[in-house]
Amino acid sequence: MPKNSDKTLIVGNWKMYLTRLKDAESLVSEIKKIVKNKKKVEVVLCPAAPHLVDVAYDIKRVKSISLGAQDMSWQEKGAQTGQISPLMLQDLGATYSIIGHSEVRDLGETDEMVNKKVRTALANKITPIICVGERERDENGFYLGFIQKQIEAALGGISKKDYQSVIFAYEPIWAIGKTASQAMTPHDLHEMSLYIKKVVSDLSSKIIGMSVKVLYGGSVEGGNAGALLSGGGVNGFLVGHASVEPKEFKEIVNRAETTETLVSSLS
Ligand code: 13P
Repeated sequence: MPKNSDKTLIVGNWKMYLTRLKDAESLVSEIKKIVKNKKKVEVVLCPAAPHLVDVAYDIKRVKSISLGAQDMSWQEKGAQTGQISPLMLQDLGATYSIIGHSEVRDLGETDEMVNKKVRTALANKITPIICVGERERDENGFYLGFIQKQIEAALGGISKKDYQSVIFAYEPIWAIGKTASQAMTPHDLHEMSLYIKKVVSDLSSKIIGMSVKVLYGGSVEGGNAGALLSGGGVNGFLVGHASVEPKEFKEIVNRAETTETLVSSLS
């Protein structure tokens, strides 16, 4: 299970931004400086697959940085060309994997595949960071039903006690890859984090649902991180483009260290 699990989680999804190993290595050394003396934050780095081994080595002795994959196979081993086994991740010391990112779903990943990956991750002590989020918002609120379906499918067949071992990342597709000013407002985010907890509560119990961790992803930058954390009711962020920009990432981590997060409650 992950280190530092009660801290504010700042997950860096490096996507395919860094194409040279030496750039990944220099980013890690910047991030090591950024996390120095931070007590409230756990940073999770999700480099591209060819960089996992080096990053694993570079962060080995850094308590507040964990390793994650951007995706993983639902099979443990065998004839699976191009896939990453959870056993390989475990072997490197990785404790997280992003699962169901919209950019992977866009390539054909279905809710059923997401569910299989979540189950395999849990069986192998990899914490799944399950991405959910609507492509666009409609005035009738149909997007809420869409997200409910994504959550229910992802958790299918999983024991209720394991719901507390998954993390949801709410990533509305319309807010990805923009700028801070085009991201969610803290108020709207708070509604969505409560909604996700409510859906999980309805599948299990209020205690389980309310304790499930929810991250936000979609144009998180230094400029909006503090407000989203203090008002959004989330446990941290899944950061894309700003996670490979040391200045922005530093600001996000600093905000996470100094901002009191809103603890949501249905009661
Ligand atoms: P941006 O932070 O670039 O919007 O990306 C969000 C994301 O997709 C993280 O997984």
